[in-house]
Amino acid sequence: MAEYKRVCNFCQKDFIAQKYNTKTCSNRCANLSHKMKVRQDKENMFNDNEVYKRLLNKILLSVERIEKALELQGIKEKVSNEELLTTEKYCELMNIHKRTLRRMIERKEVEITKQGNKIFINKNQLLLNN
Ligand SMILES: [Zn+2]
Repeated sequence: MAEYKRVCNFCQKDFIAQKYNTKTCSNRCANLSHKMKVRQDKENMFNDNEVYKRLLNKILLSVERIEKALELQGIKEKVSNEELLTTEKYCELMNIHKRTLRRMIERKEVEITKQGNKIFINKNQLLLNN
């Protein structure tokens, strides 16, 4: 029977193997070595998943940004002929409630133009939320 000098993959001890491809000194080391490999594989898989998740989030964020830019482009085109917007139109385009707009005006977060009793909003204020 052939004998091969080996170092155990698990306990690092020298041993004599009967087969060329034996990698551990005992059944015990073989089992433990296998368990360790399984755990390592699981951890690697988990790490891969984390990387993919992060990547996916980045992609989703980019898509959101692009969508927002396109939406804004659409809004700008829609109002390209008008300098001043009614509050109704502004709310509709910005997708906000009238009450929200009133608060924004009170806090001077949005510039307004008064014509008589009516309040108008300059279309450049559409970019505020960007
Ligand atoms: Zn061993």
